[in-house]
Amino acid sequence: MLREPAVSSRELKTVPVACDLAVIGGGMAGVCCAITAARAGLKVALVQDRPVLGGNASSEIRLWVLGATAHMTNNNRWSREGGVLDELLIENLARNPEGNAIIFDTVLLEKVLAEPGVTLLLNTAAFEVKKTGDAIASVRAFCSQNSTIYDISAPLFCDASGDGIVAFLSGAAFRMGAEPEAEFGEKFAPSQDYGELLGHSIYFYSKDAGRPVRFTPPSYALDDVPANIPRYQRFNTSTEGCNLWWIEWGGRGDTVHDTEAIKWELWKVVYGVWNYIKNSGKFPDAANLTLEWVGLIPGKRESRRFEGPYMLRQQDIVEQRVFDDAVAHGGWSIDLHPADGIYSERPGCNQWHSRGVYQIPYRCLFSRNVGNLFLAGRIISTSHVAFGSTRVMATCACAAQAAGAAAAICSGRNLLPADLAEGPRLKELQRSLIRAGQHIPGVRLDDPDDLARKAKITASSSLALKETKPDGPLLPLDRSRAQMLPVQKGRVPAATFLASVSEDTSLRIELRSTLRAGNFSPDVVLASKVVELKAGEDVPVLADFGVEVDRAGYVYFCLLKNERVQVRTSETRVTGLLSLTLSRTQTPDGDIGVEAFEFWCATRRPAGENLAFTLSRPLDAFRPENLANGFARPTTGTNAWAADPGDRAPSVTLSWDRAQTIGRIEIGLDTDFDHPLESVQHGHPESVIPFCLKRLRVRDGAGKTLAEVTDNHQTRISIRLEAPVSTKSLVFDALEPAGSVPPALFEIRCYPG
Ligand SMILES: Cc1cc2nc3c(=O)[nH]c(=O)nc-3n(C[C@H](O)[C@H](O)[C@H](O)COP(=O)(O)OP(=O)(O)OC[C@H]3O[C@@H](n4cnc5c(N)ncnc54)[C@H](O)[C@@H]3O)c2cc1C
Repeated sequence: MLREPAVSSRELKTVPVACDLAVIGGGMAGVCCAITAARAGLKVALVQDRPVLGGNASSEIRLWVLGATAHMTNNNRWSREGGVLDELLIENLARNPEGNAIIFDTVLLEKVLAEPGVTLLLNTAAFEVKKTGDAIASVRAFCSQNSTIYDISAPLFCDASGDGIVAFLSGAAFRMGAEPEAEFGEKFAPSQDYGELLGHSIYFYSKDAGRPVRFTPPSYALDDVPANIPRYQRFNTSTEGCNLWWIEWGGRGDTVHDTEAIKWELWKVVYGVWNYIKNSGKFPDAANLTLEWVGLIPGKRESRRFEGPYMLRQQDIVEQRVFDDAVAHGGWSIDLHPADGIYSERPGCNQWHSRGVYQIPYRCLFSRNVGNLFLAGRIISTSHVAFGSTRVMATCACAAQAAGAAAAICSGRNLLPADLAEGPRLKELQRSLIRAGQHIPGVRLDDPDDLARKAKITASSSLALKETKPDGPLLPLDRSRAQMLPVQKGRVPAATFLASVSEDTSLRIELRSTLRAGNFSPDVVLASKVVELKAGEDVPVLADFGVEVDRAGYVYFCLLKNERVQVRTSETRVTGLLSLTLSRTQTPDGDIGVEAFEFWCATRRPAGENLAFTLSRPLDAFRPENLANGFARPTTGTNAWAADPGDRAPSVTLSWDRAQTIGRIEIGLDTDFDHPLESVQHGHPESVIPFCLKRLRVRDGAGKTLAEVTDNHQTRISIRLEAPVSTKSLVFDALEPAGSVPPALFEIRCYPG
């Protein structure tokens, strides 16, 4: 028995934690930062004030993780974030294609637990900072579950806490609200009337109980929803979870200190809405419905933004400005919301896209005045307008991976974040990121250690794509459709499509390209013509434009809207090939600094078939040399090797004049970077992306198997050989694709150890 005498006071138990990097906040940003740093060998403390990881993506709040792909509603083809976030989302897809938020929690927890370098402190809230000079020396955090204070000391800190608790306490310069237009020349800067902060939201889920269920609202529920909520007609019995993002409030207040009050207001709205659905008599199909879940913690969109040496702004996003210190990318729209949220008469959001993805500079990822503090998540150094885009979780995670990789370079060399902002150290940072799967738009991997660069790369066969079989459904030209084709510099091949034509008609066809290399916004009409089509089935549509292009890249064969025509599709799927539909046009509301352009979007599987086509000559787009070209996803070409579908034993061989010592091999596969992997609620058609290789074998020059990978579903395979081998060649056997597609790879790299 423990018995203690009465005393005047007591101290809490305090546990010291010494590490190389302390990450405060375990949202998607904190998780990806911590895993990245730990994999580079750092001892990392990950401090999270709640019971599970994921922040707004956790089962406590249930937002789907999104980023540059924006649910495939923009022109950002193959733009899903790579690296650790990709690994997490691909794992979630494998286990949880239905999007169960609780399963996603387990994926995040398991991945963090798998890193021996991470000390995970759950239910532990950071509340105090001690500094030495302009650097943070330690952070104190309290776990209410075990009544323990953790005293965490480290040479480097990363604040990924959403509100920036450590950055705030350490005196880092910050902003809250919106910059006036004059400061950065941002024409989309909101008026005070619109509001300068985005509010919080709370979601709910309902379920069918199989029998009538009553609902008695709590006394604090909002009365008379139609009178109080201008957009009340959007409520119905099937809308739940993320589709209720517009139950938002709090943007007129202090979104840090008023959070509890905002939560009460949101609960009031949620229970008022549910009362309206259940008891207004307007929703007879609600009789059997019961509330299954209501968020207990509000999802926070915006509070403080901290200042780094550079603040990203609207023009950087819209004009896709190029930065020497680019380390991550974004691609969500600039997405601002009226501060009055649910009570506003205005639309719930105001979204403006760029023509393509944009770079995020490293200088946005550390404090300009607290020397050893990285910034991650929604608090990075951006203007309010740019934050409207960088705030989504996949973008947060992608930039946070850069902070983690930077910490790994600083650590042990006594460097501070600012020491990496330019020169060779910045190049080292970019290299380490791309090696780990990060995509930095326009930045090619420059890897002098990679032996694959010095190899001759050959293949058992390479896909020479001349046609896609006409075995898919007919697609009406009720909207304009396009087929993207990667072509080499020179004359563009002619393409013949097949149409079902209800009456004789004239069809306009166009050959398009992009304004900017690497974009997928088909803004430039290279040639246009009208073809006369007779009524009938399988009518050939010859698209022969006789056009020469002066650079390799994707061209777009566009068949413009014509209600009399349906075009034949193909079940053939190939790495780096997509068909598109003209979905809408972005037309700016006056002079707000955004561009007018068309959205030509791909459609999710199982739809989104390629058009059936025959080309005048095969595409030269799948050569094995692509495997060492420094890009591991489609950009201005497929950047892939793909085998001929008839090849019974598809393989790639790397050979050198002299024997090489190889201890580690990195392989990049195709998990369809065009497909957004919403983490929860959305659901996905497959649990393994069909373009991915499930089985792969590596042999040495003598045919001896060095490694065999089975049951793969991941984008990256990293093979560390038991002992380095000395060989003049390596053979990679692509044994089994996950779907019925020609086997393909994006990247092979080899290192001595
Ligand atoms: C309703 C709503 C809809 C949105 N829609 C989307 C969407 O569809 N897709 C998308 O990707 N993004 C969406 N966003 C934006 C996105 O969720 C946030 O911008 C993003 O979560 C910010 O990431 P973060 O890691 O900075 O913060 P968070 O996700 O909030 O993570 C921060 C973590 O730090 C923890 N923490 C806070 N204080 C402390 C402390 N003192 N000590 C320890 N830990 C602490 C928090 O508990 C939290 O887990 C939406 C946001 C909201 C609110």
